[in-house]
Amino acid sequence: MISAEEFYTKRDARTAEWLDPTGLHAVSLGISIDEVEAQTFAGQLAFLLLVNMSARWCQRITLVAPDVPLHTALYCWGTNQLVDNALALAQRADPYGIFQDQCEPVAASVRIHLGRHPTLPISCIRGRGWLSELRHSDDMKLKDDDSINPLGPALAACMGASYMLRHALRHDDVCETAILSLWNLHHGGAVIDGPDLQKSDIGRVLLIGAGAVGASIAYLLPLLNLNFSDLCIINPDQVDYSNLNRVPLFFIEHIGVPKSEVVHNYLCAASVPSRYIGKWFNDVIGPELSLQNFDVVIPVANEHGVRAAVQANYPPVMIHGSTGSQWDAYAGRHIPLVDDCLVCRFPQPAAAPRCAQGVLKEQESAGAAPLTGALPFLSLAAGVLALADLVKLVIPGDPPNANTTILSFKSANLRPMIFDRVPRANCGGCPDPVVWQKLNGSSRHAPSSGAG
Ligand SMILES: [Zn+2]
Repeated sequence: MISAEEFYTKRDARTAEWLDPTGLHAVSLGISIDEVEAQTFAGQLAFLLLVNMSARWCQRITLVAPDVPLHTALYCWGTNQLVDNALALAQRADPYGIFQDQCEPVAASVRIHLGRHPTLPISCIRGRGWLSELRHSDDMKLKDDDSINPLGPALAACMGASYMLRHALRHDDVCETAILSLWNLHHGGAVIDGPDLQKSDIGRVLLIGAGAVGASIAYLLPLLNLNFSDLCIINPDQVDYSNLNRVPLFFIEHIGVPKSEVVHNYLCAASVPSRYIGKWFNDVIGPELSLQNFDVVIPVANEHGVRAAVQANYPPVMIHGSTGSQWDAYAGRHIPLVDDCLVCRFPQPAAAPRCAQGVLKEQESAGAAPLTGALPFLSLAAGVLALADLVKLVIPGDPPNANTTILSFKSANLRPMIFDRVPRANCGGCPDPVVWQKLNGSSRHAPSSGAG
């Protein structure tokens, strides 16, 4: 076991430049949940995710929660009482953090509440169905009822994590009130909740990449009520300390274990059969792997020109998530012969910013570079946006969402931006329609089958 100092030095290698100068290592967080919210799947899920993400950067967290059993639909995350499970997740994320539960709210640098707070005028988050909300105190718009849909609550947890980090950084323009829908991707009064998640067959799915976005997607997969006739994960490298700063599925016991194996073991334990290939995509495509054996490809890796290699092999429908440099999370969908292709979307792989990297603080001295760091919630947010697109493949009545979604956690009201990208002329990656139909015409979500 390494020392605390060594642990934080390694885990925060990408964020060390801001942790000390801004005093973030001294920040303490308070996360509370009320009796009503703690009885729900949605409330418990948002609570556990928020604690999980917060323990990735904050060393002192106090939880205030009633002693209730974990919801049975969340047994993939543990089997204890809710609070015990939250504390265990935090301690596995950071074995040196000081995480405790108390029956009274304590003085914390930044607080947030899940549900409605009966007395204090503090900010609250809530997710229900496809909807996520951040609002002061007892003015929550979303109803108290429950829904076994992880998407709205998971995004609400990201909103809460962003809210707390931005307050800890003393940003002066933190969004305090927002409601948005992952169903119609509108915000404010225009939000529409989508249908419940019925048991649905998504077909054969290939997850290329088990890094921050890929593993975040995998973390929520068991909760989506999907059947996979095949689920294959490709990723060659191992979990290291720096992954613990933002990946909800990776914990201290996973250091040194191949990421694809960790994800595979997690899914199997959650009763989602899967298989994994611990190699680079470029080394297995062709002899070991054919994209024509899949109905959906989720390309969430960008090393070694993998996006161009995927596109060159006539992929079926693709859905992916990624992060930008402005506290923004992206989701992209590519219906072959309809949308643009992966090369249209990412023409220069080398120019992509580092995963989840964002500006945390502008320097006061003129000309000094701003402090940047890996945001602990942004990869998960990108994964949630991508999963919303994935689920829509199998839900009748799919709203006419655009093929590109952007959500910036620095925007004034967390309004998602959506638009349709069109193929670029002479991109060089767009598939030949005749060849594509010949190879993939029978795939489950092919455009000719009427899906999408
Ligand atoms: Zn193209």
